[in-house]
Amino acid sequence: DRISEGLSRSRQKFTEQMNVLLDRGPNLDDDFWDDLEETLILADMGGSAASQVVENLRDEATRKALPDAYAVLDRLNDELASTFATTEADPFGGDAACVLFVGINGAGKTTTVGKLAKEGADAGRKVILGSADTFRAAAIEQLEEWSRRANVPIVERKRGSDPASVCYDTIERAEADGCDLVLIDTAGRLHTSDDLMRELQKVVNVVRKRSKAPVYTVLVIDATTGQNGLSQARVFDKALDLDGVIVTKLDGTAKGGIALAVSHELGLPIYKIGVGEGLGDLKDFDAHDFARALVG
Ligand code: GDP
Repeated sequence: DRISEGLSRSRQKFTEQMNVLLDRGPNLDDDFWDDLEETLILADMGGSAASQVVENLRDEATRKALPDAYAVLDRLNDELASTFATTEADPFGGDAACVLFVGINGAGKTTTVGKLAKEGADAGRKVILGSADTFRAAAIEQLEEWSRRANVPIVERKRGSDPASVCYDTIERAEADGCDLVLIDTAGRLHTSDDLMRELQKVVNVVRKRSKAPVYTVLVIDATTGQNGLSQARVFDKALDLDGVIVTKLDGTAKGGIALAVSHELGLPIYKIGVGEGLGDLKDFDAHDFARALVG
């Protein structure tokens, strides 16, 4: 599949490193565990997830459930899958939802909103878009284009308008028109990062107060930026108390491990993953499939 294809180069590198590990023999000594942890970190999985995975496997080995390095590597897949944070609440599961998309410019927010609008409309939902990136004129035009493609209404105001009031208007219109899936695109850059976080906090507060439908704040991150994605996620989560994450550009040069790093360290579920620029390129996330694509 597309995820497996996208991560094939990265997976190949990982397999090579694992083979080097195994060439030294099947013994589970300290060097083995240290090298395994380092390999996971090199695959972008982050220190917190990597040490958790190694600790769990090491515990199993101590209990004699895993006799040697081969058995450990056979278990790695499942262990990675269970290290992802999970949730029952899914904004795209079919119940009414109001979803705010946040993330830095270029992460893939607008594209993701467009793909989800089409997916929702195709599934028979009443979708509405809100364009709360009032800082960048091109962002409004880009979302308009997606609204045409998905054939769903959009609420927009001129450049420079108050983004919180665009959100308010979007939710009002959604309620008046009986929309059950509200997708709101937000700004990814202002004059400074502090300005951006303050603006987004205001937006999130207004939306949480105004919306009758459950509100989800979803961070979109570009997997090709590697550990940068984790730093961004920390900043956004601290300011906005995120509900979940969408990871894009897993079709390119990304290592993919960043999805695990963010999900584990911040306790956030991965809702969807992006594997291309087109309408059909947003996939449901499955931890086992993803782990398999990461390490084979
Ligand atoms: P925004 O600034 O966060 O709204 O980002 P955009 O939605 O404008 O996306 C930035 C660029 O990334 C665009 O050229 C998109 O086509 C591209 N993009 C978004 N998602 C993906 C993806 O999953 N894979 C690839 N290859 N490109 C993507």
